[in-house]
Amino acid sequence: MAFMKLQVVKGAYALVDVGGSSWPVPEHVCGKITDDMIGDACEMEESDVEAWQGCVSHLAQYIPEHGEIFSVTREQGYCWRLSAPGYLDCTEWSACDTIADLYKEALESLDGPEDPGYAGEVRALLEYARDEGMPLTDTQARYLEHEDTYPAFAWTGGYTIIYVDKDGDVLCSKCAVQTMADGGEISHDTHDEGDPEECAQCGHVMKSSYGPVDDAGDDA
Ligand SMILES: [Zn+2]
Repeated sequence: MAFMKLQVVKGAYALVDVGGSSWPVPEHVCGKITDDMIGDACEMEESDVEAWQGCVSHLAQYIPEHGEIFSVTREQGYCWRLSAPGYLDCTEWSACDTIADLYKEALESLDGPEDPGYAGEVRALLEYARDEGMPLTDTQARYLEHEDTYPAFAWTGGYTIIYVDKDGDVLCSKCAVQTMADGGEISHDTHDEGDPEECAQCGHVMKSSYGPVDDAGDDA
């Protein structure tokens, strides 16, 4: 699922029940959800069921189960999915009531720091959540304020930057982004000299800017 982009649609969606499972379809995708589409086959006169099913049959193309549609309701909230740009490859739509739920669920669905697109997707998700009114932690706000937050190297001079979480574990820039995205506190430091540091989460090795210190040098 590498290089998957998060797509979010806010507003009305149809919740389509096919008997046991329900699938959200954003109005943005299926077109206007009219009053005559809303209904429950079990609560209709038998003579009305066929006409209603004709009215909602086009929704079947947007859901993974192409069985008989049992009921359709109109809901409000956030629908999201992951899609690979330029391909037809995408996940099914999921729906959430609140921006906090959307942030949590969407963040968990992203691939993590090993995906080269991860930092950009986290930034886009955080910006969206902030604009929708989700309170951010200090670290998250700082991340959004500074475009170049959590780089691997200082942009002047190329000094190695390492990150430290609240337990004192050393992290690489990518894992620091993940920790920050989860709401954790992160501090940073440059790694000027000495042996390489290893990321506590992914094992990525970060060499110091000036390399190992030669202890034998003092005795010569
Ligand atoms: Zn790492």
